[in-house]
Amino acid sequence: MESAIIPSSYSVEVSKMPHLLCTSCKAKMQIEIPQHGETFDPIRLIGSAICRQCGTGTGFEIEANTIVYVSGKTSYGSLNTLLSKIVKTLYAEAELCFQSGAPDASTAMCRASIEAALTQANFKGANLYEQIASAKTAGDLDEVEVGLAHASRLITRDAIHRGELISLSDVPSMLSATVRILNKLSPIKS
Ligand SMILES: [Zn+2]
Repeated sequence: MESAIIPSSYSVEVSKMPHLLCTSCKAKMQIEIPQHGETFDPIRLIGSAICRQCGTGTGFEIEANTIVYVSGKTSYGSLNTLLSKIVKTLYAEAELCFQSGAPDASTAMCRASIEAALTQANFKGANLYEQIASAKTAGDLDEVEVGLAHASRLITRDAIHRGELISLSDVPSMLSATVRILNKLSPIKS
């Protein structure tokens, strides 16, 4: 069995955690959390275990010594190939952040991809709120998609500017919503 170690800034004892399977090669990894003294008991920990066999990161979330969430290889939908390279790259980075156990970064990239797609579709506005409103007025986004776009805007605003951290398990629905929104904003085939 390979082990995956979460780095710590100071020398500590190591606590063995439940096993985790690498999302790529399925190697069994044991998470070891450095701890100092006997009192350290992480209530909630989000991270990425790097597989020593294949180098892939597997995002995980631990609550009270139990792994409660592992980022999988699920598909969140396929992006329309007509979307621009920058929009596709921003979205790909959102998925990478998720796989790496970085939920706040992932939602920030979701938002960035939506902003880029709105701008490229020529929906202007002083801010993202106005851009979403223009897309709604033009009928490019339906009521559900407008709601999802605003949810992405708000969750990211709270995560980045207000320190409200997002849970890893919240991210898949954000990724799916982003794919749906982006596909509606892709250039129409002529
Ligand atoms: Zn692996």
